[in-house]
Amino acid sequence: MRPVVLLTGSGSVSDQAKRPPPEPPDREQRSAPISAGYDYVDAVLQAGGAPAVCVNSTVEGAVSAALGAADALLLTGGGDLEPSTYGRRPQAELRRVDPVRDATELLAVRLAEERRMPILGICRGIQALCVALGGTLIQDIPSQVESDVNHDLKTDPPRPTHAVRAEENSIVRTLFGAANFQVNSRHHQAVEKPGDALRPTAWAPDGVIEAVESTRGLPILGLQCHPESLFRLYPEFLRPFRWLVEQAAARGGA
Ligand code: MN
Repeated sequence: MRPVVLLTGSGSVSDQAKRPPPEPPDREQRSAPISAGYDYVDAVLQAGGAPAVCVNSTVEGAVSAALGAADALLLTGGGDLEPSTYGRRPQAELRRVDPVRDATELLAVRLAEERRMPILGICRGIQALCVALGGTLIQDIPSQVESDVNHDLKTDPPRPTHAVRAEENSIVRTLFGAANFQVNSRHHQAVEKPGDALRPTAWAPDGVIEAVESTRGLPILGLQCHPESLFRLYPEFLRPFRWLVEQAAARGGA
């Protein structure tokens, strides 16, 4: 049996419709697809998992039950987190936010951590991971960090574009088999402080955090890069997904 990996994604359903006065969700919201990116789904399949999509919802009990039917959690990339989730006011550079997605992912991380489920957070996912467990974010790298590194670079075809250095005793170091390697990078935000439950384990040359993991030995890994865009051309980038599926299987999910 393949372990079930619950993927977060875009599109939200709020519970506002059932509240008085009855306010139907607007047309745009009702017609927006609820989805997880193709590359993430494909990576989970290639790594031996069975992907399932978590619907972003503030309806009570929905996220907890969806997580209960899964063996691992995969937080995917996306827009910015609303800064109030980590106690800050929005800066001018803040991009699109989705409070329902924020609420869903923050709850999912807290429940998954409590249940000791394996978690992989990618791009926005490493940020959601850290915010859920008490960390803070850099809202906009270009305006807040003095840096020669372009962290927001889209290439076609996708390829690694900047260096990272991984700590010796870390999951990333083990997965990539080297202290120094290259990653792709499409983010304008980053982890500022990961919170007590997590520690940084890889950095870009400008000091931007590129990976985190649990300080309590839990199977939690956050990556700021996008392995799902690279694994077809660079097979080593399938390893984080394999790690997630193996951790889920070891926990009894398969
Ligand atoms: Mn980067």
